[in-house]
Formats: sequence, C-alpha cells, structure tokens
Amino acid sequence: MKSWSVCLLIPVLVLAAGCRRVADQPVDTSQLPLAVGGVVPGPLAVTHGGVGSPPEWSTMTQEAADGAMAQLVATDDALEGALAGTVVMENNPVFNAGTGANIRLDGKTIQMDAALMTSEGDFAAVAVIERVKNPILVARKVLDTPHRMLAGEGATRFAHVLGFADIVPTCPEAEAKFHKRWQRLLDGVAGGGYDHFDWRRAWNFPGPLPEDAARDGGPAGPETGDTVGTVTRAVDGTFAVTLSTGGTSITLDGRVGDVPIYGCGSYAGPAGAVACTGHGEEIIRQMQARTVYNLMAGGLSAQEAVARAAAAFPPEWSVGLIAVDAHGWGVAANRQMAYGVASR
Ligand code: ASP
Repeated sequence: MKSWSVCLLIPVLVLAAGCRRVADQPVDTSQLPLAVGGVVPGPLAVTHGGVGSPPEWSTMTQEAADGAMAQLVATDDALEGALAGTVVMENNPVFNAGTGANIRLDGKTIQMDAALMTSEGDFAAVAVIERVKNPILVARKVLDTPHRMLAGEGATRFAHVLGFADIVPTCPEAEAKFHKRWQRLLDGVAGGGYDHFDWRRAWNFPGPLPEDAARDGGPAGPETGDTVGTVTRAVDGTFAVTLSTGGTSITLDGRVGDVPIYGCGSYAGPAGAVACTGHGEEIIRQMQARTVYNLMAGGLSAQEAVARAAAAFPPEWSVGLIAVDAHGWGVAANRQMAYGVASR
C-alpha cells in the first residue's frame, strides 16, 4: 500500500471507530417516536422532563424553557439560564427531581444527583445528596469550591452549612410512585435488570425490607417522568447544561447513575451542550453525552446527533436526549418525552 493511501485510510478508520461508539451500522432514525429540531439564532433554551414523560406535560417543560429564557435574557449567561430551567422542574412534583424525586425502596430515603457544565469546561456535581429541595443549586455551589463533586452525607451537610433548608423534598405524587414501584417489583415487571436480579439477597438499606409497601399501590402502570435537564445557548454563543434526578426507579442503597458522572449524563463544550435521560447504566457505558457532543464537534447538527444516538441506543433501554449547537437545537428519544424550546 502506498504511503499516501495509508495516510488517507487512518483518519477514515479512526472516524469509523468513533462512530461505532454510537452505532455499528448506519442508523435508521425514521422509527424514533421523537426526533425533532430546528435552526434558531440568538439565545436558546431546551428542556426535557425525562424519558417516558407524556407529551401532555410539555406545558410544564415549556414553562421551564421559558424560565430559562427569562434568565438568559436578563443575565446573558448560559449557566444562569440552564439553572433556572432545571429549578422550575425540580420545584414541580410531577418530575423525578427535587420535590418529586423518587423515594428509594426502603420507603424512607430520597437520594438525588445533579450536575452542570459550561462550554468553558466548568463541571460540578452532587451525588446521593439528601434533604435539599434543589440539588442543582447545590451543584452550582460546588463550582465555587476547589472540588468538582461532593457525594453522600458530605454533600448534604455542605448544602445545609451554606444555608439550604434541611427538608425531605417529598410529595403525594412521589409516595404514589413508590407504592406502584413496589407492586411492579413484586409482579416481576420492574425492568432495569431487576427481573433477573436477587434484590432481596442484595438488600443493603439500613432498615428491613418494607414487605407491605405495595399495599396502597393501585394498578401497576408504567412510570412516567424522570430526570430533568436544560441546555442553553447565550447570545454570545456560549453553552451550558444542567441535569437533576431522583435516580432510577428501583435501586440498591447508594446507587449512582449517569447524571453526576462527567461526560455521561451531560456535557458542554465550544460546539454545544447535551443532556441525557434514561437508563443510567447504559448511558454510562456509552459515555452518552460526550459521544453526542463529539458527533456535533465532528460536524453533525444537534438534531442529527441526538437522533442518531437515540436510534442507536439498545431498544430495550429507554433514552432521551436534548442538545443545542451554534445553529439550533435537537430533541430525540426512543420513548415518549415532554420537552420545551424557547428562543428570542
Ligand atoms: N438517567 C437517570 C439515572 O439513571 C434516570 C433517568 O433519566 O431516567 O439516574
């Protein structure tokens, strides 16, 4: 082989290997339940209410996008906008974040994760934090420390020392979800790998199994709503992302999903910002947000990049993605998902 042809081949192989992180085969995005986007100049905010959230909730995700836009316009700061959008959803009990965060299997604890990132490369997160209303605002405070992530009791105490109220952020909606979840677990239809996992044997909560937890469960329907996220572009072309979650439905004590892990649940850089939702363990395996970001940095539009990643995700696992780039926005999911878009 001539040396010039080797020079040509190597970049092609590197590109192909990069693409395989998202899709081994060319990906057909036409079957996705949700794949939309647009070209919009100026300040831009996109929100999601978690994969699985019904389209009727888009009034609430739109309210969050509008809240993000109000801050974007007031401050010209992409991060301020992204924080505002996610706080609106953390304060709304229907979403699995902040006030509506999932109650863990012990029926008592609520452990939340949240993260933010800017196109300047600033990243901060909290993991398994308890007893705060707005974990994303605690993550913002972590940004002012020499650290990038605080976890567990230390994160909770950090929040309280800084003046965040010591409250268990729960609500009747979260209680109802908890009982339904137990019913699904007992029925063997919990999903998320739990149908073939001896979770009783692995039970690691401090208290005993709450055997009667399904008592008020009502019919075991599907869960709706999950992690919430906001991506923004400021008028100066900088980007930010915020992500907040009550975690996946059924987990062992101390489980950490993709949300606070760098490059997995969220990512931002000079080419744009990405926020994910869905099966955290698979999102981590694919380093999903960074992978989508790389597609945008490589020339795909935000719309193309999220659609391709959603279509390539293993269909047995749910995923939803939102992204903004220099030109516009994209939203895609392999299930239904409520989202909002605001521009000026
Ligand atoms: N990705 C989140 C987690 O695994 C949950 C979700 O978005 O559905 O914690």
